[in-house]
Amino acid sequence: MENCLFCKIIAGEIPSTKVYEDENVFAFRDINPQAPVHILVIPRHHISSMAAIDEATDAELAACLRAIRLIAAREGLKEGYRVVSNCGPHACQSVPHLHFHILGGRQMADQMA
Ligand code: AMP
Repeated sequence: MENCLFCKIIAGEIPSTKVYEDENVFAFRDINPQAPVHILVIPRHHISSMAAIDEATDAELAACLRAIRLIAAREGLKEGYRVVSNCGPHACQSVPHLHFHILGGRQMADQMA
């Protein structure tokens, strides 16, 4: 989608540190990491947020989840990791293209918010 930051990253118009890609999914390191490992997993198809996943195919959604598991294993996150998807203003979503944060490499707080 025109003017979508993450669509531009997928297209290579904005540089990123890619860690994984397949026909449905693109994943890259967050530019402002909140943990030693902070990776964003996004569907190639522009979907604005979790609130719009009816626009995604089951294959695309499954591919995102499978990519998360694969990337976490590759990154050596044996002690675990957190997966977050901010949806809408109450969750402080800042980029309106569905994305899953993988956060790992340190102990996370036991509070979710
Ligand atoms: P959210 O606030 O959940 O929408 O997450 C958006 C994330 O995108 C933030 O963690 C940002 O640091 C990250 N981000 C923004 N621009 C870039 C970029 N050019 N490359 C990598 N990550 C980015």
